[in-house]
Amino acid sequence: MPLEAGLLEILACPACHAPLSDSTAADTPELVCTGEDCGLAYPVRDDIPVLLVDEARRPA
Ligand SMILES: [Zn+2]
Repeated sequence: MPLEAGLLEILACPACHAPLSDSTAADTPELVCTGEDCGLAYPVRDDIPVLLVDEARRPA
């Protein structure tokens, strides 16, 4: 189920404040930071983005 339209536009990475893009590449939905030096991937649980740095998956 896609995130609510427009929601992505108001979300920003809590670590670097860059915009987020939704990723369907992973098995589970994620919001991936578009910041060049950041790139954290935040989990989406029950259609609710978890924008916590502690919960984010760090890029390899
Ligand atoms: Zn970021």
